[in-house]
Amino acid sequence: MIVISEVGPRDGIQSLDFLVDLDIKKRWIAAEAAAGVREIEVGSFVNFKRLPQMHDTAALVEFALTIPGLDVAALVPNLRGAQAAVEAGAHKLSIPVSASETHSVRNVNRTHDQMVEEVRSIRAFVDAQPADARTSIEVGIATAFGCTIEGHVPEKTIVDLAERLMAAGASEVGLSDTTGYADPAMIRNRIKAVQAAVGADNITGVHLHNTRGLGLTNALAALECGLTTLDASLGGLGGCPFAPGASGNIVTEDLVFMLDAMGIVTGIDLAALIEVRKKLAADMPAAPIYGFVADAGVPLDFSQLVKPDPETGTYA
Ligand code: ZN
Repeated sequence: MIVISEVGPRDGIQSLDFLVDLDIKKRWIAAEAAAGVREIEVGSFVNFKRLPQMHDTAALVEFALTIPGLDVAALVPNLRGAQAAVEAGAHKLSIPVSASETHSVRNVNRTHDQMVEEVRSIRAFVDAQPADARTSIEVGIATAFGCTIEGHVPEKTIVDLAERLMAAGASEVGLSDTTGYADPAMIRNRIKAVQAAVGADNITGVHLHNTRGLGLTNALAALECGLTTLDASLGGLGGCPFAPGASGNIVTEDLVFMLDAMGIVTGIDLAALIEVRKKLAADMPAAPIYGFVADAGVPLDFSQLVKPDPETGTYA
């Protein structure tokens, strides 16, 4: 079973130039969960003055926790964000640490050493919580395949950072193609190098962008290395509305179609997911929506792996 982690409500909307209503986000999260999505990153605990789109993350976590079986993740850039996320009850903390130190300093005003220390303090904070509130700490190594400021990011930088972050208390590390620079060979090489350094159990996911159209081939390369969690966003939301063709994350619907077609179980109902996409497009007509399967339809005789129970309309 492959876990698709929906990051649209966080990564997908943070660059939109209009605020998305809390009710729209709630409907979206509930509908995706009903379609079988088991993990959703609902928002981030950041400085809301800098990122107003994320002002209602605590309310979204609270709402998402009422959905049975859903793993609720939140992005946190620092200890303060982690404290807010734990207080809200999030199951997973996702901490971005940029492999490009220039990017890290410009974005969060912290060097690698400082980010490693930040992860260490988050670990100490989480360990001080009651057993049932100890969230998982997943560190995503951002710009892991290249940076728009530094350009090439050496593989050794990624591997060293992964080792230091695990030693500082990360539950696991993941690789993020923040800039859409990755290609399948690079995905294979870097995942294998990190697996060899920290152990295959400590890297299970990748975060990919489809900026240059290689998103799904990169996803496949990651799966072939044994990874089991793929981030994606409904309608490939994200990217910049002012840069035509600069799409966001890999498209959840297209990814589910590819995996379904290959007989790989995701637990997600593709037809239901496409309905969620239509509703979201109607709710946010100004948002750029990407993807192929929803427009083209599935092939004749295509058989979905997940179908609702014909009697109850629900999923087993
Ligand atoms: Zn991203």
